[in-house]
Amino acid sequence: MATIFTKIINREIPAAIVFENDKVIAFKDINPQAPVHILVVPKKETVNDIKEEDKELIGEVYLAIGKIAADLGIAEEGYRVIANCNEYGGQEVFHIHFHLLGGKKLGPLV
Ligand code: 5GP
Repeated sequence: MATIFTKIINREIPAAIVFENDKVIAFKDINPQAPVHILVVPKKETVNDIKEEDKELIGEVYLAIGKIAADLGIAEEGYRVIANCNEYGGQEVFHIHFHLLGGKKLGPLV
Protein backbone atom coordinates (compact mmCIF):
# COMPACT_ATOMS: atom_id res chain seq x y z
CA MET A 1 0.00 0.00 0.00
CA ALA A 2 1.28 3.44 -0.87
CA THR A 3 2.57 5.54 2.02
CA ILE A 4 3.79 9.09 2.47
CA PHE A 5 7.21 7.94 1.23
CA THR A 6 5.70 7.04 -2.16
CA LYS A 7 4.36 10.58 -2.35
CA ILE A 8 7.87 11.89 -1.68
CA ILE A 9 9.35 9.55 -4.31
CA ASN A 10 6.72 10.75 -6.82
CA ARG A 11 7.32 14.41 -5.88
CA GLU A 12 3.71 14.77 -4.76
CA ILE A 13 4.90 16.20 -1.46
CA PRO A 14 8.21 17.97 -0.83
CA ALA A 15 11.19 16.63 1.07
CA ALA A 16 14.80 17.68 1.55
CA ILE A 17 16.35 15.03 -0.69
CA VAL A 18 20.05 14.37 -0.08
CA PHE A 19 20.56 11.33 -2.35
CA GLU A 20 18.73 9.62 -5.18
CA ASN A 21 19.43 6.99 -7.78
CA ASP A 22 17.13 4.65 -9.70
CA LYS A 23 16.60 2.34 -6.70
CA VAL A 24 17.01 4.42 -3.55
CA ILE A 25 16.00 7.83 -2.28
CA ALA A 26 17.14 9.56 0.92
CA PHE A 27 15.77 12.69 2.56
CA LYS A 28 15.88 14.53 5.86
CA ASP A 29 13.49 13.28 8.53
CA ILE A 30 10.78 15.85 9.20
CA ASN A 31 11.21 15.35 12.97
CA PRO A 32 14.96 14.88 13.42
CA GLN A 33 16.23 12.99 16.47
CA ALA A 34 19.88 13.93 15.91
CA PRO A 35 21.79 16.71 14.10
CA VAL A 36 21.87 14.39 11.07
CA HIS A 37 18.72 12.30 10.62
CA ILE A 38 18.20 10.94 7.13
CA LEU A 39 15.63 8.41 5.97
CA VAL A 40 17.04 6.02 3.38
CA VAL A 41 14.23 4.41 1.42
CA PRO A 42 14.13 1.84 -1.39
CA LYS A 43 11.88 3.20 -4.12
CA LYS A 44 10.20 -0.17 -4.40
CA GLU A 45 7.30 -0.36 -1.95
CA THR A 46 8.91 -3.11 0.06
CA VAL A 47 7.50 -3.94 3.47
CA ASN A 48 9.43 -5.45 6.35
CA ASP A 49 9.55 -9.05 5.20
CA ILE A 50 12.44 -8.78 2.80
CA LYS A 51 12.17 -11.36 0.04
CA GLU A 52 14.90 -13.23 -1.78
CA GLU A 53 14.34 -10.87 -4.73
CA ASP A 54 15.02 -7.84 -2.49
CA LYS A 55 18.45 -8.83 -1.23
CA GLU A 56 20.32 -6.78 -3.83
CA LEU A 57 18.09 -3.82 -3.09
CA ILE A 58 19.11 -3.88 0.55
CA GLY A 59 22.73 -3.87 -0.61
CA GLU A 60 21.93 -0.76 -2.67
CA VAL A 61 20.53 0.85 0.47
CA TYR A 62 23.75 0.24 2.39
CA LEU A 63 25.87 1.52 -0.49
CA ALA A 64 23.75 4.67 -0.43
CA ILE A 65 24.15 4.98 3.34
CA GLY A 66 27.93 4.89 3.00
CA LYS A 67 27.86 7.60 0.31
CA ILE A 68 25.47 9.83 2.22
CA ALA A 69 27.47 9.51 5.45
CA ALA A 70 30.63 10.50 3.58
CA ASP A 71 28.89 13.40 1.79
CA LEU A 72 27.45 14.72 5.05
CA GLY A 73 30.80 14.41 6.81
CA ILE A 74 29.75 11.92 9.48
CA ALA A 75 31.48 8.79 8.21
CA GLU A 76 34.67 9.15 10.20
CA GLU A 77 33.15 10.14 13.54
CA GLY A 78 30.50 7.50 13.12
CA TYR A 79 26.78 7.07 12.87
CA ARG A 80 23.92 4.66 13.53
CA VAL A 81 21.50 2.93 11.17
CA ILE A 82 18.13 1.79 12.52
CA ALA A 83 15.17 0.02 10.92
CA ASN A 84 12.02 0.01 13.04
CA CYS A 85 9.74 -2.99 12.55
CA ASN A 86 6.04 -3.07 13.46
CA GLU A 87 4.46 -1.99 16.73
CA TYR A 88 7.16 -2.90 19.25
CA GLY A 89 9.84 -1.49 16.98
CA GLY A 90 7.96 1.81 16.87
CA GLN A 91 7.32 1.77 13.14
CA GLU A 92 4.99 4.46 11.82
CA VAL A 93 5.48 4.29 8.07
CA PHE A 94 5.02 0.86 6.51
CA HIS A 95 7.39 1.21 3.59
CA ILE A 96 10.75 -0.23 4.60
CA HIS A 97 13.28 2.46 5.47
CA PHE A 98 16.48 3.00 7.37
CA HIS A 99 17.20 5.87 9.74
CA LEU A 100 20.73 7.24 9.37
CA LEU A 101 21.56 9.13 12.56
CA GLY A 102 24.68 11.04 13.43
CA GLY A 103 26.31 14.39 13.97
CA LYS A 104 26.76 13.82 17.71
CA LYS A 105 27.71 10.99 20.06
CA LEU A 106 24.51 8.99 20.25
CA GLY A 107 22.98 7.64 23.44
CA PRO A 108 21.77 4.15 24.35
CA LEU A 109 19.80 2.19 21.81
CA VAL A 110 16.61 1.86 23.86
P1 5GP B 1 9.37 4.91 11.56
O1 5GP B 1 8.87 5.21 12.94
O2 5GP B 1 8.27 4.37 10.66
O3 5GP B 1 10.59 4.09 11.54
O4 5GP B 1 9.85 6.30 10.99
C1 5GP B 1 9.09 7.12 10.18
C2 5GP B 1 9.81 8.44 10.12
O5 5GP B 1 9.24 9.21 9.08
C3 5GP B 1 9.66 9.28 11.41
O6 5GP B 1 10.96 9.51 11.96
C4 5GP B 1 8.99 10.56 10.93
O7 5GP B 1 9.48 11.72 11.57
C5 5GP B 1 9.26 10.55 9.44
N1 5GP B 1 8.24 11.20 8.63
C6 5GP B 1 6.90 11.01 8.72
N2 5GP B 1 6.26 11.75 7.80
C7 5GP B 1 7.23 12.42 7.11
C8 5GP B 1 7.19 13.34 6.03
O8 5GP B 1 6.14 13.70 5.49
N3 5GP B 1 8.38 13.82 5.57
C9 5GP B 1 9.57 13.43 6.13
N4 5GP B 1 10.67 13.96 5.60
N5 5GP B 1 9.65 12.55 7.16
C10 5GP B 1 8.48 12.06 7.64
